[in-house]
Amino acid sequence: MRIVVVGAGINGLLTARELAQANVEIMLCDQGDLAQQASWAGGGIVSPLYPWRYAPAVTALSRWAQAAYPNLQRELYDSVGIDSELLTSGLLFVNPDDARDAMVWAQANHARVERVDHAHLRDRWPGLAHDADTGVFFPDIAQIRNPRLLKALIADLTRHSHVQLRPQTAVIAIAGARGHASASVTLASGERIEADAIVVCAGAWTAKLLARSALPIRPVRGQMLQYQVAPGSIPSMILRDGHYLIPRQDGLVLCGSTLEETGFDDRTTAQAREQLEAVAATLWPGLTAQPPVRHWAGLRPGSPNGIPYIGAVPEQPGVWVNAGQYRNGLVLAPASAALISDLVLSRQPRLDPTAYAPLAPD
Ligand SMILES: Cc1cc2nc3c(=O)[nH]c(=O)nc-3n(C[C@H](O)[C@H](O)[C@H](O)COP(=O)(O)OP(=O)(O)OC[C@H]3O[C@@H](n4cnc5c(N)ncnc54)[C@H](O)[C@@H]3O)c2cc1C
Repeated sequence: MRIVVVGAGINGLLTARELAQANVEIMLCDQGDLAQQASWAGGGIVSPLYPWRYAPAVTALSRWAQAAYPNLQRELYDSVGIDSELLTSGLLFVNPDDARDAMVWAQANHARVERVDHAHLRDRWPGLAHDADTGVFFPDIAQIRNPRLLKALIADLTRHSHVQLRPQTAVIAIAGARGHASASVTLASGERIEADAIVVCAGAWTAKLLARSALPIRPVRGQMLQYQVAPGSIPSMILRDGHYLIPRQDGLVLCGSTLEETGFDDRTTAQAREQLEAVAATLWPGLTAQPPVRHWAGLRPGSPNGIPYIGAVPEQPGVWVNAGQYRNGLVLAPASAALISDLVLSRQPRLDPTAYAPLAPD
């Protein structure tokens, strides 16, 4: 069996890995360098931002994926010696106005959670801004160092002789199987490649490639700042009013992010830099003693309610999609890749796929 996977972000790489483990011959192509778009730009929180505010379809994928991450990290480390730094640093939600909903959700989903009062907050997170009153702390929420995870995945895939990685290879058209003809992709070079299945993991660009299917996936720009502090100075990830800090093990701290509907423009802006500097000052005032060391942007694959499309593309036999994870593509990726692979390979799906099925256009 031969499958073409389009797009080498976290979803394409993990989908290719799942399929390769079933001994399928894979061609994975990307229009640019491998893994340089949203999956590189993301923060790597291994949880939806306010998990209790999401639809059960997102929770089902994220709970499954969270359980799968430790194994994935270990397998990649054993295979290629790159540590993706899966770190259970916990996530503190500061002043959430729906703390009760968080507690109810945590109980229903068997997630450990602590209500944190003002004194406790000052004691454990002494650098928080003074108007931080209360918090909800999920100690088991982890982060992943996504650029390293991507590097490890690429290195792992290159070890499979039946996987061909093709950067700088844009797909310009996709055709479903018809009569005796298989599904196929046409490359920008004019080359046409037939396959038993095509899996589109093209992130924010997916709707362009599957225009006939009218999937409502749109680019949503996110910008991020990075600071450098002494390792360990910020004791956990912190989220307040939709913005967050992610302290890495080596003292780098990510501060994000913006949500901007600016089409396919992935440039950074001075305005967002100012906004994020203000966010950093609100979250952990000491952080802004030094200017940020880096500023970047990426395009999320936005979808209604953040529910991804994982399944067969209507009216295009042999064409599948795994895209639209929006703000949660890194956390959801192991589960998304497992589910699409089950479907493509006609295995019993490990999760009911109904909620993710792309609907036929009207
Ligand atoms: C600032 C920011 C912070 C984030 N933080 C988090 C977080 O903390 N946790 C979390 O879970 N998620 C987070 N996300 C979301 C997450 O990064 C995305 O949902 C996820 O990376 C999407 O992965 P993807 O593989 O679908 O897309 P991408 O990584 O964008 O990959 C798609 C690939 O397809 C390629 N492609 C497109 N069109 C074609 C074509 N025609 N031919 C060939 N190749 C093509 C592109 O070049 C690209 O490499 C964040 C995103 C941003 C921007």
